[in-house]
Amino acid sequence: MDRGNALRRPSTLTMSLLKRILVCCLLLTLNVPSLSVASSAKEVYDLVILNGRVMDPESKVDALRNLGISGGTIKVVTGNHLNGRTVIDARGLIVSPGFIDLHQHGQDEENYRFKVMDGATTVLELEVGTGDIDRWYAQREGKALINYGVSVGHLAARMAAMREPITFLPSGEAALRAATDVEIIEMKQILEQGLKRGAVAVGFGIQYTPNASHWEILEMFRVAARYGASCHVHMRNAGVKEPASSIQALEEIIAAAAITGAPLHVVHIQSTGGPATPKLLQMISEAKSRKLDVTTECYPYIAGMTDIKSAIFNEGWQEVFGIDYKDLQWAATGERLTKESFAEYRKTGGMVAVFSMTEEIVAGALKSPLTMIASDGILEKGKGHPRTAGTYSRVLGKYVREQGALTLMDALLKMTLMPAQRLEKRVPSMRNKGRIRIGADADLTIFDPQLVIDKSTYQEPAKYAEGIRFVIVNGVTVVKDGQLQSGVYPGRPVRAPF
Ligand SMILES: [Zn+2]
Repeated sequence: MDRGNALRRPSTLTMSLLKRILVCCLLLTLNVPSLSVASSAKEVYDLVILNGRVMDPESKVDALRNLGISGGTIKVVTGNHLNGRTVIDARGLIVSPGFIDLHQHGQDEENYRFKVMDGATTVLELEVGTGDIDRWYAQREGKALINYGVSVGHLAARMAAMREPITFLPSGEAALRAATDVEIIEMKQILEQGLKRGAVAVGFGIQYTPNASHWEILEMFRVAARYGASCHVHMRNAGVKEPASSIQALEEIIAAAAITGAPLHVVHIQSTGGPATPKLLQMISEAKSRKLDVTTECYPYIAGMTDIKSAIFNEGWQEVFGIDYKDLQWAATGERLTKESFAEYRKTGGMVAVFSMTEEIVAGALKSPLTMIASDGILEKGKGHPRTAGTYSRVLGKYVREQGALTLMDALLKMTLMPAQRLEKRVPSMRNKGRIRIGADADLTIFDPQLVIDKSTYQEPAKYAEGIRFVIVNGVTVVKDGQLQSGVYPGRPVRAPF
């Protein structure tokens, strides 16, 4: 309609507008799937994804479907054609909910780039966490490629209570000595304050604070329980050597969950468990059968990585892990360590890869129906562990396609729905993530199942994964035709109501 015509017939225009408003109101009131489908033929969506093989672990849909997205939300999932202002042709590609990483330490632009190129749309720092929830979220507001979130951390609370500077992992008093009753009270207050400000969970690295008493840990679990927050725990001991084994360590935290009622999430079970991993998984399965809320995660690599200054390398580490100096690789240079270089680097500190697992342990953990996939990733100026950039593509390429260790749907379940469900009681917004259905957040990962593979290595950890073709975050295309887009920051905070 041109302008002159409109001016000549004001009453018709008003009537048609009124009708449109009425129809809109009706549609809003009757916002049911069938109506959306019926109206989908005429509607023009912000973005449509056509011809993809949609795989949704919640509904178990695995079929060619078209998606219509508007306002950052999935509006329609249909076999019918759709119109969009932007169109992605996903022919030959898998359309999955975006991957949700419950264990990502690196939370800056550099890390988000590698994460999204590996298919992650939400990355959460839940193991180490932070001491200052408001500040942590404020630092990322409006500047993030992907969704982000954090726990309040026992490590940070302990460093604060012991008046030492707050670093990533403690190496001073907080790493070395028992806490006083007064310090434990202060730690509880810090956790409580964080939970009141919407911390997603409570994080623990008990192996980094070996003199934290069992009572201290119980006290922290009690605070988490009051807020329905899951405890994400790096266990007190690794490996199989009794009595300070990973089995004993798992007993400690399952008991803490049973005593306090706090939900428990055991982090990187295969790197802490080593050869004991099948036994740990059996214990978790048994605890679940007793109605305890216990979950776990693993990553697809035979080496872990941590700070060489941490308590993990206290006297006797070789026996604990069943390894020696040659099984340590200095991240900054890629060199394997000797007695001499170990002593040297332990003085200065820095990240070291620990080759303590076997392929059998890793594949066994990945296959277990209990495990989610979580990376434990962090890159600093391109240095770090390859898991930051390659965890998801490695599971999809090496373990699903090449080895057939698990089905594609099961792998996606571990990357999407399971992590969303882990958090959704405390963070209800997670009910709209990890799924492809009407009303879900438009966080989507579209990949080529024939090509997807990790490229990052221990020598070159900062290499983008391949085969992740498109990544959509809250309806915004962040990866397009395998290329990272610049100048878009659609990431939003994942935070508990506060
Ligand atoms: Zn850890």
